[in-house]
Amino acid sequence: MSAAGDPVAVRVFVPGQPIPMPSRHPVPDLLAARRVLAIQPHYDDNDIGAGGTLALLVATGAEVVYCTVTDDLVGVVDDTLDATAAAAALRRDQAAAGQAIGVSRQVRLGYPDAGAWDRFAVRADLLRVIREVRPDAIFTVDPWLPTEAHRDHRETGLVAAEAAILFGLPRLPGSDPGVDAAWVADRGPDLRYVAFYHAGVANTIVNIDATWERKAAAVSEYRAQFEPHELPMLVDALDERAQAVARLAGEGFSGRRAEGLRVLHPGALHGGA
Ligand SMILES: [Zn+2]
Repeated sequence: MSAAGDPVAVRVFVPGQPIPMPSRHPVPDLLAARRVLAIQPHYDDNDIGAGGTLALLVATGAEVVYCTVTDDLVGVVDDTLDATAAAAALRRDQAAAGQAIGVSRQVRLGYPDAGAWDRFAVRADLLRVIREVRPDAIFTVDPWLPTEAHRDHRETGLVAAEAAILFGLPRLPGSDPGVDAAWVADRGPDLRYVAFYHAGVANTIVNIDATWERKAAAVSEYRAQFEPHELPMLVDALDERAQAVARLAGEGFSGRRAEGLRVLHPGALHGGA
């Protein structure tokens, strides 16, 4: 027990009031990215979660590549379609939505939607994709959203975040030795940041007024996964949310609609740095 006047060795704070620890990494500049890889569990997550921001990056000259982890077949509403026809319908939707956003390329990993996929197999594929695309920014779902119940979302966000901090280690193989060898010879730019959408805690609010129509058009293309009457309801719900997020940004923020992201330097994704 310390006596009066002793230096304080331990200070206990009020239970239930956690103290955020400082990070030595400043919040990265979102719009500085030139090549973006957006990794999503299902075909529509990037557009629903960050379509306005991704379209804005395209407008500033960035190249945007999408990578979808699962085959998304569970979400197809027309149960008369066989797997081949359902996959074709999803690809059509994604191509049309990608055109609205300005996506340059779609990479599909094809793991079973809501199924038993192995995180290490997905990680090896993501190492391959990251080493091939050589992005300076990665977008993905926030795996730390406290109420996220969908395993595909939690696992995709976690595996993508882990791949983002490990892809620079050449001893860790990706799923294609040829890609690994080419990447070792020419590694491309440093990764500036990982941006998490569907974020539980945001540190960046993005004005998407200029690209809202593109996001709405992209989301409206997901006809295989939503009944016709559901799509306008989804767009309305996203509109309402975008306006609520813009209001959160407070005074001086000019946007009417916004997306909230948690943008982290890769160094902030390991060891409390
Ligand atoms: Zn999803």
